[in-house]
Amino acid sequence: MKNLRVLQEKPAAEFKPVQMQGFAMLGIGKCGWVKKSIPEVGPYDALVRPLALAPCTSDIHTVFEGAIGERHNMILGHEAVGQVVEIGSEVKDFKPGDRVIVPAITPDWRSIEVQNGYHQHSGGMLSGWKFSNFKDGVFGEYFHVNDADMNLAHLPDDIPLQSAVMLSDMMTTGFHGAELANIPIGGSVAVLGIGPVGLMAVAGAKLRGAGRIIAVGSRPVCIEAAKFYGATDIVDYHDGDIVEQILKLTGNKGLDSVIIAGGGSDMLEKAVRITRPGGTVANANYFGTGDILPVPRLAWGCGMAHIDIRGGLCPGGRARMERLVDVVRYNRVDPGKLVTHVFKGLENVEKALMLMKDKPKDLIKPVVLV
Ligand code: NDP
Ligand code: ZN
Repeated sequence: MKNLRVLQEKPAAEFKPVQMQGFAMLGIGKCGWVKKSIPEVGPYDALVRPLALAPCTSDIHTVFEGAIGERHNMILGHEAVGQVVEIGSEVKDFKPGDRVIVPAITPDWRSIEVQNGYHQHSGGMLSGWKFSNFKDGVFGEYFHVNDADMNLAHLPDDIPLQSAVMLSDMMTTGFHGAELANIPIGGSVAVLGIGPVGLMAVAGAKLRGAGRIIAVGSRPVCIEAAKFYGATDIVDYHDGDIVEQILKLTGNKGLDSVIIAGGGSDMLEKAVRITRPGGTVANANYFGTGDILPVPRLAWGCGMAHIDIRGGLCPGGRARMERLVDVVRYNRVDPGKLVTHVFKGLENVEKALMLMKDKPKDLIKPVVLV
């Protein structure tokens, strides 16, 4: 009798067509629309339709710099909130019609690496990043989510879609920079780069109790947002060497914590140079060039300065997203300030992606409402 009731209460999966459209990487340097079969769901999976999408700087690295190697006709995108369309037989906590936050990182929760504490690397280094890496991403009419109960989070009605979509990657990544940075209460922090990731690192550093927060960037829209999120000092990297500028600000002492969230492969070296002995360098940036990342020998105390160098892919999964929901619901941080451009309709995902590539002066982050 009990089982029968459960069966009757379960809403029927909605009608869906067989084929769908998606905006894809056709090959390195090329993207366009493709038609594909709608993904099948396994027993633990869900099929989701996007409600809001955002392109990421990582999508640009993927398509235009070949960051993850060659891919053909792979649907792009890993930042989404959506609505569940279909669930597998073993999914317990979600049903068709539910609105959900979809993390950029959707690990296999049954893996040795997860048991070792690094879900981002479940199944091998960086393997928790599946969308638009190992499988089709979210820039389609539908997309597949593995292990739905472990990876999706319910989206509360009181968080606007365009703010919610900032949780799946920008907020978790920026906050992770702050988490890795070992910030003492009242500690001094520099955030190198204040695009959306760096801005969330500024907000994360403030949440973690930082005192002084020096933000490095140049575009006025980002500088204004950095101040909004908690930056106390701004350094423009066009005004001269940031190492000199920041050391001057700290009376040559250096900082407790430095978070890298932009710039090229020389940023690691610069970060070490502005960190005090015993401090921490935390990297959230993608280093796209060079086989070796140089570390300055003397500034690193010939290897004995107790300056930790850390870096990591952003955390994903359900528990992480639920915590970020509470950060927003309880008014700790408003990610909506990141969104400078809003488009309507899936077809505009292409325009939004190109904005992310060109980074016009007034852009922090574009969102597409579907
Ligand atoms: P943006 O390109 O929007 O921002 C980059 C920032 O770096 C801007 O503020 C820019 O300033 C600044 N910058 C550029 N060159 C320099 C320089 N030479 N010195 C100091 N600052 C500089 O990037 P996002 O915020 O979108 O992403 C940042 C990085 O994070 C990317 O590499 C992205 O791939 C990576 N990423 C990492 C993730 C992870 O899990 N670890 C997840 C998502 C993204 P200005 O605009 O004024 O020129
Ligand atoms: Zn991303």
